[in-house]
Amino acid sequence: MVKILFSKDDIEKRVSEIAAQISRDFKGKDVVMVAVLRGSFVFFADLIRMLDFDFSVDFISLSSYIGTFSQGDVKKIYGLQENLSGKDVIIVEDIVDTGRTLDFLFKEFSFKNPRSLSACALLNKKCARIIDVPVKYFCFETGNDFVVGYGLDYNGLYRGLPYIAKFLGKK
Ligand code: 5GP
Repeated sequence: MVKILFSKDDIEKRVSEIAAQISRDFKGKDVVMVAVLRGSFVFFADLIRMLDFDFSVDFISLSSYIGTFSQGDVKKIYGLQENLSGKDVIIVEDIVDTGRTLDFLFKEFSFKNPRSLSACALLNKKCARIIDVPVKYFCFETGNDFVVGYGLDYNGLYRGLPYIAKFLGKK
């Protein structure tokens, strides 16, 4: 059972606003958009199609959650293909919760000598932050609920919902 927090229309509007902001900031630069799989894949696909400049894309897969509980330790599962040296790198996350994933990525990527590193998230769960990480762009601020939909899962389910919802448990 779920309770809708952000509708399909809410999401579309905010993603286009964020895309316009990123386009203004990065047009003419050598940008790599990096999707943090798997949760960001829907957001990433929508976002990059609204960007008004040329960029390359890459993917990294990480995991720190089982069910609704953070496991704390972030594991790298699948690595980057692109050379990030001298590039403006934008990390695209589904949700920044404790901040551990983003902190891990900022550290990993800074060894690759990018020109700049920024983060863009669909959701910002600021109230759950353990590590203070900068999230330059985000669509929505959310509370301490476990959310699903629009790419976000609960044990592999609900990624295909067109909206973002609070997960209330199984029926
Ligand atoms: P972190 O705690 O490292 O900031 O977030 C790690 C990852 O946990 C996020 O990228 C996301 O995949 C997952 N996560 C955190 N909060 C939620 C949530 O409310 N719902 C879902 N489905 N995943 C979450």
